[in-house]
Parts: sequence; structure tokens; C-alpha cells
Amino acid sequence: MALRLYRTDAYLVSFTARVVAHVTRKGAPALVLDRTAFYPEAGGQPHDVGVIAHVRVTNVIEDADGEILHILEGNTVDSLRPGDEVQCCVDWGRRFDHMQQHSGQHVLSQAFIRVAGLDTVAIHIGHSDCTIDLPASALPSDALERAEREANAIVMEDRPILAYEVGDADLPAIPLRRPPKVSGAIRIVEVKDYDWSACGGTHVRSTAQIGLIKIIKAEKRGAETRITFRCGSRALDDYARLSAATGRLMEALSASRYEVEQAVQKLIAESRADRKALQEAQARLIAYEAAELLAGAADDGELRWVAQAFAGRDPSELRALAKQLMGASRVVALLGASGDKAQLVFARTQDTTGDMAAALRRALAALSPNDAAKGGGAPTFAQGGGVPADQSQVQAAIAAARAWLRDQPRATSVNADKS
Ligand SMILES: [Zn+2]
Repeated sequence: MALRLYRTDAYLVSFTARVVAHVTRKGAPALVLDRTAFYPEAGGQPHDVGVIAHVRVTNVIEDADGEILHILEGNTVDSLRPGDEVQCCVDWGRRFDHMQQHSGQHVLSQAFIRVAGLDTVAIHIGHSDCTIDLPASALPSDALERAEREANAIVMEDRPILAYEVGDADLPAIPLRRPPKVSGAIRIVEVKDYDWSACGGTHVRSTAQIGLIKIIKAEKRGAETRITFRCGSRALDDYARLSAATGRLMEALSASRYEVEQAVQKLIAESRADRKALQEAQARLIAYEAAELLAGAADDGELRWVAQAFAGRDPSELRALAKQLMGASRVVALLGASGDKAQLVFARTQDTTGDMAAALRRALAALSPNDAAKGGGAPTFAQGGGVPADQSQVQAAIAAARAWLRDQPRATSVNADKS
């Protein structure tokens, strides 16, 4: 079994080791070494990457027997023989980031116990965010702020973080946050006089190296609450990004740093009011337009035909116009709009007959002989389209529908009343 160098020195980056075996893991070459500073994915902390004998290590895993496998890129492992001494190097940037997050998690988990009595039930150190799950569906109102302040106070006190092993006999004397998952000699990670955890992970030397601990959000997840946080350089990157965005908003809104939110809220309220006013104005405009179309409608004595192709108009406006026209009597409205996705809206008033859905099918066939235009509806209202067409093509489609409707036997309720 490989000697786990990271357990006694989390800062060891460069080391030599002997090859014990090379194996294949899911088609990828992997090395077993006699000693390693590479951390395998475990306990919520992601694995290291780095280099062994100039070959990239892309993954490090611990197999079921507790053996550590260093997964290599490519298939260059063939040149390495058991017994060969190899030079190894852990990617320090990634490792130190994981150390900051993991140590920060221990401090934050203890802080939540102290301010809210909530013990962490699960942790995750992700690529960008880290999370801890707390066993409560809701937290006391100020728990987040208090836990964050407490955790950062511990950071600023620059407490040593120690790792040591204890046997079963000594374990009861240690105020562990959670009971250990393994038996025998237990590795304890202690934030001096503050937190004691059974943990196999890599940690910074003292709390100051964690840097800022920032809670990003809290989400209810069933009976638990998931706290998302970032530590150290990740928290600094997040702050820098948000600060730059705030700066741009300050400039755009001519607002000071802490007044940006108020300025945005004002803008949102104004935008809502503007949209409402615009909708009202559009509705009035549609009413005028409908009246004008009706005045120019072709009245054949029984029906008033409003057949109109518009240039590139929104389907919602066509529907609003049709709806407005349906407020009159004896009206058949055959409306259309040209564009990349041409639209047709056909409607008739209840005091007439004629199948708008059937008329639409004629128009769609005229618009696109290959059946690409789709649509449908009911006898009184139908809409469709979706194919590119210019205004004259839309006008021709409407004319086809109108001609078809005119040829249908008229059994309108108007006629029925007359007979
Ligand atoms: Zn841990």
C-alpha cells in the first residue's frame, strides 16, 4: 500500500517514488506508486492532477482495496517498469485551492453548530462552488450572517490547523463534530481549540491561509438547507467580479456604490409602467385601425370582408386586430403578415357561417405547396403560417381563402333568420 505523503505534509508538491505496477483502469493507463503526494478523490475533496515522469496525471482514485491509482493521459506508460524511480509533481494551484475550501468548510461547519446548533450532514467541494447541507428546512433569520462573521473571525485569529492520529482509547476525549466513519487509528484535523473532525483531507497550516469565507446563498432542499460558499482565492475572484459589475452599473446609472440596487429597482418599476402604458396605447391604436379597416371593408350585402396582408407584423397584433373586428357584426377577417415566418389569422363573427380552419388550409396550401406551413383552429377562428413569404405572397394566400369561402353555400344564421 502506498505511503500517503499528503497526510503528514499537505504542502509537499515535488517528490520521487518507485513504480509498483502499471495497470489499466477503464481503458486508461494508471500507475501504482510506493509513495504518493497525490490526493485521491475522497471525503468530498476532489482529486489532484499533476505530472509523473513528464506524463500528465488526469485523475487519482482510491480503489476498493485502498490502493491509489494515478490515471495517466495517453498510453506512454509502457516505458515505465516496476521498480523505476519517477519524478512526480502535484499541480499546486489546484491543490491549494482545495485546501482553502476544505479547511474553510471545517470552520464554517463548526460556526453553524455554534450560532444555530446545526451539524453539517453532507459536504461538496465543487469546481466553482462548495456546499454544506444543514439538517433544517429553514434557518433562523440572522444565522447566515452570524455564521459567516464567526467563521471569518476564526480566520482572522490565525489559529493553527493540526492533523494527528489517535487510537480508540483516546477518541472519547476529543469533541468530534461527527463520529468517525472508520475504526482503528483515526486521523483528526483540529482547528486549534475550535473544531475537531475525523478527516483524511489536506488542509492549510493555519486559518489565515483560508482567506475570506463567503456564503453565496442558502437554498431549501426538502428537510435540509444547502449553503453555498467560497473560500480564499475563489471568494476574492467572486468579489472582484461582482465589484467590477457593480462599477459598470454605477457608471451606467450614475449611482453610488450602495445606491445601485435602489437605482435598478426604480428602473424596473419605470419599465413596468412604460410597458403598461405602451400596451394601452397599442390597444387604442388597434381599435382605431379596426374601425378604419371596417370602414373600408368590402360589403357584399351579407358579409363585410376585411382581407389584408401586412408587412412583417407580430402575430399577437394580428390576433388583437381580429378580436377587435369581432366586436362588429357580419365580419369575416382574413389577416396576414409577411416575414421569415409569415402568419395568417382568420376569424368570423358568430352571426355568420363559413369554416375558418378549412379556409386557412387553402391559404396555407397557397403559401407553401410543400405543406411546410402549419396551422389550424375552429370554424370561427384559425391561425397558422411559419414559412417565409413576402407581402404579395401573403395577399395571394388570403385571396385564395376568400375565393374558396365565397364559393361555399351560404347558410349563415343571418340568412336563416331571413328565411
Ligand atoms: Zn474534512
